[in-house]
Amino acid sequence: MPQEANVDPIEIDKFQSIASRWWDPESEFRPLHELNPLRVEYIENHAGQIDGKRILDIGCGGGILAEALARQGASVTGIDMAELSLEVARMHQQEAGLEIDYQLVSAEEYARRNEAGFDIVTCMEMLEHVPDPASIIAAASRLLKPGGLLFLSTLNRNVKSFALAILGAEYLLGLLPRGTHEYRKFIKPSEIAAALRANGMRPLDVTGMRYNPLTRRYSLGRDIDVNYLMVASFDD
Ligand code: SAH
Repeated sequence: MPQEANVDPIEIDKFQSIASRWWDPESEFRPLHELNPLRVEYIENHAGQIDGKRILDIGCGGGILAEALARQGASVTGIDMAELSLEVARMHQQEAGLEIDYQLVSAEEYARRNEAGFDIVTCMEMLEHVPDPASIIAAASRLLKPGGLLFLSTLNRNVKSFALAILGAEYLLGLLPRGTHEYRKFIKPSEIAAALRANGMRPLDVTGMRYNPLTRRYSLGRDIDVNYLMVASFDD
């Protein structure tokens, strides 16, 4: 693996070890499969038609979001630092008849090598796995065209998110393997907003994603205490 300051090798190993199961909807990736339609809906609600748009998906993993966006006609590039996940993503898109450009490169390095050419940058459920999330946000802002939109999702940090996302999801319900998330890496929306501001951007909307353990369904709503989505744009 290339040496990069803003990559936690333990996190990458965690994903590599389960990479073969990215497309098993009953695996540890089940929550991402279930969240996916809501994320696509959120992106389309804010960006409008994504047909023909250039989208960069940072931390794309096995391509769950990247494929859904490509299916809507977007031209998608997916980057991740877990090689095995990218192998799975490349194989799966072939079976699906899609053409996504998957690359093993960090967001920072990709921003050094490429112009600000994307209409949309997405970075979902990834910021809570990196040492310096603000650096990812800075790289994303450099890759966006003027007028472009940045879509982020992560986990909030408070007593409730500790109770639900760690104790609930990992220990009581077993939705995720124990150790998937580290509480201290959870990120408050205000912290994301500060990182956005440092790059001339601002949040346009924050929306919660709530899990109902009885119906086993996720829904979008106002409660941003645990999982949340955010869309940001450049200042006018
Ligand atoms: N965004 C995808 C996958 C989320 S899982 C989805 O929501 O469906 C988190 C992903 O972030 C994993 O694929 C992991 O390999 C990746 N990741 C973790 N640290 C990273 C880093 N520093 N740079 C790029 N990708 C990283």
